[in-house]
Amino acid sequence: MSTLAQMLDRLTAPAELVIPQADGSVRCTACAHRCLVRPGRRGVCQVRFHDGKELRAPWGYVAGLNADPIEKKPFYHFLPGSVALTFGMLGCDLHCDYCQNWLSSQALRDPAADESAYFIRRVSPEQIVEAGRRCGAEVIASSYNEPLITSEWAVSVFKLAVQTGMKCVYVSNGNATPEVLEYLRPYLTGMKIDLKTMQDKNYRRLGGVLKNVLDTIKRVKEMGLWLEVVTLVVPGFNDSNEELWEMARFLLSVSADIPWHVTAFHSDYHMQETPNTPVSTLTRAADIGREAGLRYVYAGNIPGRVGEYEHTFCPKCRTALVRRTGYLIHEVRIGAEGKCPKCGERIAGIWNPLP
Ligand code: SF4
Repeated sequence: MSTLAQMLDRLTAPAELVIPQADGSVRCTACAHRCLVRPGRRGVCQVRFHDGKELRAPWGYVAGLNADPIEKKPFYHFLPGSVALTFGMLGCDLHCDYCQNWLSSQALRDPAADESAYFIRRVSPEQIVEAGRRCGAEVIASSYNEPLITSEWAVSVFKLAVQTGMKCVYVSNGNATPEVLEYLRPYLTGMKIDLKTMQDKNYRRLGGVLKNVLDTIKRVKEMGLWLEVVTLVVPGFNDSNEELWEMARFLLSVSADIPWHVTAFHSDYHMQETPNTPVSTLTRAADIGREAGLRYVYAGNIPGRVGEYEHTFCPKCRTALVRRTGYLIHEVRIGAEGKCPKCGERIAGIWNPLP
């Protein structure tokens, strides 16, 4: 029987995000780790590897494919109520102890995730886009695992999707390089990025570097892509007032129009002893975002218990523009021109015409 590594190694294509080196090794530019991968070796993510001739990148399968509400990504200012056909592969460049999706993300990095082999389904880009068309998707999202490390596959899907009029988005940890963002730019309309902590030492515990994520947030905004930021609020890890204020102030320094989602953690993976995020912590985090001056702050993962923090209000006259419970949309009062119907204030985002 094949090991998971053997199965995944067969489902690959030549990587495009590489800089060949004179000694036969390659520098991978798909994520900010920028691994120097020598012949016969793997990158930090394990799913990209040098086969002796070239760097190989995941291609030709999905480990998850679902027609999700766009609110689940979460995007709240991006075609609310639309279907986002969402695909994911296996693997990640980080290793968060509290990962809520570790079976997919930690494939090849943690033997306990080997059963993710059962998720694998061979599929072509054409079949994914056709599935999107059949379920009425306006959006195609690359999510579930870290999409940056499988960007060649995402681009082969996105190239077809944009031809049919679908919009393409990434749900990412933000550990990007300028090269991968330029590679995605012709096809990508939006990006959801995690801001996990403002402490570099804590980012390093997860396998990342704070500066790389902050740089990605700034760069994505400068590039004109639609951006929403998510912070999973984990008790004892990133839930102090000081740290939440620091996150809010950083986002404000980039743009007050970035929607900030503070979402609730549930005990998972290597953090089974850590309690779920209390509602009061989540609303405190959201209060800080609003007090700091962010115009759109949301509290997620505890539907129906966070009051007004599930809805979108006009930041000028406080008219309710989109009312939600969890992923369910009750009312949308903002049309394609993206203006408050009462005071005319421009509401940042990408909006559909009203029915
Ligand atoms: S995607 Fe990131 S972790 Fe994987 S090989 Fe490339 S640089 Fe390394």
